Amino acid sequence: MQNITDRFVKYITIDTQSDPENSAFPSTEKQWDLARILVDELQEIGMQNVTLDDNCYVMATLPSNVDFKVPTIGFISHIDTSPDYSGTNVNPQFHPNYNGEDIILNKEKNIILSPSYFEDLLLYKGKTLITTDGTTLLGADDKAGIAEIVTAMEYLIKHPEIKHGKIRVAFTPDEEVGKGAGMFDVKKFGADWAYTMDGSQVGELEYENFNAAGAKVTINGKIVHPGYAKGKMINSMLIANDFIAALPKDEVPEKTEGYEGFYHLYAMKGEVEKTELQYIIRDHDLKLFQERKETFQKVADDLNKKIGSTTVEVEIKDQYFNMREKIEPVMHIVDIAEEAMKQLGIKPLIKAIRGGTDGSQLSYKGLPCPNIFAGGHNFHGRYEYVAVESMQLATDVIVKIAQITTERAK
Ligand SMILES: [Zn+2]
Repeated sequence: MQNITDRFVKYITIDTQSDPENSAFPSTEKQWDLARILVDELQEIGMQNVTLDDNCYVMATLPSNVDFKVPTIGFISHIDTSPDYSGTNVNPQFHPNYNGEDIILNKEKNIILSPSYFEDLLLYKGKTLITTDGTTLLGADDKAGIAEIVTAMEYLIKHPEIKHGKIRVAFTPDEEVGKGAGMFDVKKFGADWAYTMDGSQVGELEYENFNAAGAKVTINGKIVHPGYAKGKMINSMLIANDFIAALPKDEVPEKTEGYEGFYHLYAMKGEVEKTELQYIIRDHDLKLFQERKETFQKVADDLNKKIGSTTVEVEIKDQYFNMREKIEPVMHIVDIAEEAMKQLGIKPLIKAIRGGTDGSQLSYKGLPCPNIFAGGHNFHGRYEYVAVESMQLATDVIVKIAQITTERAK
């Protein structure tokens, strides 16, 4: 049986960064590299009906080994890594028996992973941590999830005494650019429900996420020679400044937590003639979410009234919705995951995701899909890390969920 660490290292050293600027699907060709390797590996360990479709979705089946009807469950992870940070030449560093002190990721560049800043590190004293060398992300998001699912399937195949129903697994492209669920063939997958293995800390179990929209603000100015500009020039950058200032200043990611929503300005580009602002708008509560979009539009309308034109244009697009609505009618699927963790001595941490997952969109496509921890921390950057023991626990949770689902179907 292949060690989960070897498996994880094999996946993270394959660059699979997705690209939000590319409208092709998948957004980068290199995601096929890992997809193809996964197909081979799933066949090697004895999975059946292993497929790779034209959109880079890998699917496979572990057939039932009981003679009664058990719901078909699925496990899903994503192949791609975040466009926010390089995933080229990932060079993992191992820290066995972590002592709770600063970890020097990169001596030359003085990059340090410190528990005085990242307190979560202290949860892993005595464990084996895998970190980056400070120059790339790690890719535990979500290659830890893939390693866990493949390892759990291998374990079930090698241990036929563990009874389970039919299990489907899927590895999807382009999750990090918000398109992972887009081309997912829910019908072909054919599971009654599924779990994404894409959370962070051990115990995380999530079935609530943000309602999400993207908003683009375009401000059209007027350029005139500055010496003769009085009463004529419209400086779009200064109007952009007014727009930014008119939104509630404490409702931003860096000042909110839990169920608090926000407006997040994540990019701006400007000159006198034209300025563009890119925002995301987030709220768990659907009513508050709608109100946020209205507020956003109103700021633009008020500015236009003041200037007396259509200088400020706003384009708001919904991205995904809170899966809670789709999970609540089938809460037993959350109960099973919770029970699995409890039986393994893991304390379930049930909380609302401050983001989205493939699972939220899949839930709206008819595949209810809560999210379970994969073990990594500090996603999308050079401080990302994961403990080997956490990946093993996630693997155990997958096996246990399969068992409990079967026992409950008897
Ligand atoms: Zn992820």
